[in-house]
Amino acid sequence: MTRASEKPGRKWRAGVLGATGIVGQRLVHSLTEHPWFEVAAVVASERSEGKRYCEAVQWKLESPVPEHLREMKVRGFSADLECDFVFSALDSSVAGSAEEAFARAGYPVISNCRNHRMDEDVPLLIPEVNAGHLAILEHQKMRRAYSRGFIVTNPNCSTAGLALALKPIHDRFGVEEVFAVTLQAVSGAGYPGVASLDIVDNVIPFIAGEEEKLQSEPRRILGSLDADRFVPAALRISAQCNRVPVLDGHLECVSVRLKQKATAAEVTDALRAFCIPAEIEALPSALRNPIMVREECDRPQPRLDRNAGKGLAVVVGRVRACPLFDVKFTLLSHNLGRGAAGAALLNAELLASRGYLG
Ligand code: NAP
Repeated sequence: MTRASEKPGRKWRAGVLGATGIVGQRLVHSLTEHPWFEVAAVVASERSEGKRYCEAVQWKLESPVPEHLREMKVRGFSADLECDFVFSALDSSVAGSAEEAFARAGYPVISNCRNHRMDEDVPLLIPEVNAGHLAILEHQKMRRAYSRGFIVTNPNCSTAGLALALKPIHDRFGVEEVFAVTLQAVSGAGYPGVASLDIVDNVIPFIAGEEEKLQSEPRRILGSLDADRFVPAALRISAQCNRVPVLDGHLECVSVRLKQKATAAEVTDALRAFCIPAEIEALPSALRNPIMVREECDRPQPRLDRNAGKGLAVVVGRVRACPLFDVKFTLLSHNLGRGAAGAALLNAELLASRGYLG
C-alpha cells in the first residue's frame, strides 16, 4: 500500500475523458501538481478532437490553463491512450457506452457520470463513508469479463454532501427519514449550462433527474455490501431540487427523523466527532475532518464556505430541533470539488493506494 508520504517510483498516467468540460478542466487543473498522478491524455468530442487543448477548452478557472497542457492534442474515443487509468467527465449522453468500452479495453475508469452509478456491480464511492464497497470490483470484473479494467463512480453533486453529513448521524442514531431541499449552483449544469435569461433574477424549481438521484444514491452509499450484493440503508428520502443563481456550491436544507431520539446538541457532537480511517487520512487530498460544523446562525453560505477544505469539506450549520422531524440543519458542499472532480481524485487515490491501478 502506498502512503502520501511515500512517493511512488513514477506517477500514474491519467487520461481525462471530457477534459474540456467544467468538471474535466477542474480535474486537469487538480492533477497539475498531484504527487501521484499526471495527465497523459485529454479526450473530448469530435468538435475538439485534433485541436490543441488550449484551443478546444473554454477555460473557466481563475488560474490559467496549465502550461504543460496548452499544446497537448485533444484525442477522440477511438485512440489507444498511453494511460494507466482514465477519469470520465463526459456528457451523460455518451458516458455510458464510452466508459464500458474503456473498461473492457483494460482501463480502470473513475467516473463522475450518472450512467453506471446504480449498476448492481459498480461501487458508488465516498472513501470516507463506504470504502468497503470496493470489494464488489472482483465480482464486477468477473461478471463483465473485464481483465484489468473496471468502473468506479462518485455520487451526484448533491448526494455527495448529503451522504457524508448523514454518515455520522446514521452510525450513532440511525436515520429513518430525510427531507431535503436543495439550492444548486449553475456550474452544476456544465458549460454553457442554464441560459442566463432563465436564471438571472430567478429560481428554477426543477432539475431533470436530480430528485430521483438524491432519493436513491444515499441509500446505496450508507448501505452495506453483502458478498456480491448491495443492501441499501433502510431510510426514506424526499428531495426537492432547485437551480439558483449562484456560481458554485450547492446548499441543502435537511430535516432528519432518527431511530434513536437525539437533541440538536447530540447530533452536532456526532458531526464534530466524525473521524475517518487512517487509511483514508493518508491519501494526498483527504481532509482529516471532512465535515466542518459552524456555529453562526447565518452559515454556511456558498460565497463564503464553498472552498472550505479546498472544496472537499461539507460545511454544516444551523443544527437545531425540527418540529416535524427530529433535527434539521443546512449544509453546503462544492459541486465541482466534493461533488465531482475532488471526489473523483480522492477515489483514484484510494484505488491507487489499494493497488487497483497496477
Ligand atoms: P460539460 O461542461 O458539458 O462537459 C462535457 C464534456 O463532455 C466536454 O468535455 C465535451 O467535449 C464532452 N462531450 C460532449 N459530447 C460528447 C460526445 N458526443 N463525444 C465525446 N465527448 C463529448 O459538463 P460537466 O459539467 O463538466 O459534466 C461532465 C459530467 O460530470 C456529466 O456527466 C455530469 O453529469 C457530471 N457531473 C457534473 C457535475 C457538475 O457540478 N458540473 C457534478 C457531478 C457530476 P467538447 O468540449 O468537445 O464538447
